[in-house]
Amino acid sequence: MKIGYDIDGVLIDFITPYLWFHNKKYGTRFQKEDIKNYDLTKSLKLPSKKIFPDIMQFMESKYSEYLVPAESTQEAISEIAMEHDLYVITSRSELFKRQTEEMLSIYFPNIFDGRVIFSSYNTHKWGNSKSSIAESLRLEIFIEDNPDDISSITAKGIRVFLMDAPWNRKVKENSLVTRVYNHSEIVRILKSGLNNR
Ligand SMILES: [Mg+2]
Repeated sequence: MKIGYDIDGVLIDFITPYLWFHNKKYGTRFQKEDIKNYDLTKSLKLPSKKIFPDIMQFMESKYSEYLVPAESTQEAISEIAMEHDLYVITSRSELFKRQTEEMLSIYFPNIFDGRVIFSSYNTHKWGNSKSSIAESLRLEIFIEDNPDDISSITAKGIRVFLMDAPWNRKVKENSLVTRVYNHSEIVRILKSGLNNR
């Protein structure tokens, strides 16, 4: 099968080091569990014009070295890659293209080579949304944590494994949406056969 992955909140724990950066910069004490809205301007009570410059600053800071996969993610992904074709579709800015590809090749060597797509720009030949790219690639499964992307991807009939996070607890499971807590769980589900659920 062709399986698509989101990066932040799925392959990589973004929020933990981002909050270290944010708390240091603003003298706040946010923890992951406080982030109940995917929109960081709302969760962190920050003016929207601040967020992109902050993310830029974070990505260029030493804190970005702590952007790493959650425990057991690497093992699970290598196992899935043995039987399936894996893609990455990220809404990260293309400004972080080099850094992102480098990070993926360190933590997931040879797995996503040439299959990393940045969905954020209109110039992309498939259009700019994750769901339309997923559809064009004929992905059958997508692993995602953003509630908005989950609805647009399932609207295309693509099955989603929703990676549990405080910002997506309101998303309900249905025939196309299955909540998971780690990547080993996805390995087990794929092995047992999707139709047996
Ligand atoms: Mg994400």
